[in-house]
Amino acid sequence: MHELSIMDSALNMALDQAQKAGAARVQVIRLRIGVLSGVVPDALQFAFEALAPGTMAAGAALDIEHVPARFWCAACTREFQSDHYFGECPRCHRPSGDLRAGREMELASMEIE
Ligand SMILES: [Zn+2]
Repeated sequence: MHELSIMDSALNMALDQAQKAGAARVQVIRLRIGVLSGVVPDALQFAFEALAPGTMAAGAALDIEHVPARFWCAACTREFQSDHYFGECPRCHRPSGDLRAGREMELASMEIE
């Protein structure tokens, strides 16, 4: 499962940071996931619940922030949002493959104690 390895590396990164900060436990892990990243949030949650027990992040909340896809329209010199791989500019209706956001898979922030 794709999400299991993604969650595994995100969790390891979070645990590493928590350890360096001298934390006793991790309370919240926030991930930023782009709608075009191909990652299924429910599968990430499932993977987190499988991986977290026995670590400092056991019982922590997983908070997933969804990042919409944003494309750049060169004709209008503006960004617009779309949920598809090829966006159509809402102003001039030209298609754009110039993706500026939406593929994120990153650890946004966390809360530790
Ligand atoms: Zn346009």
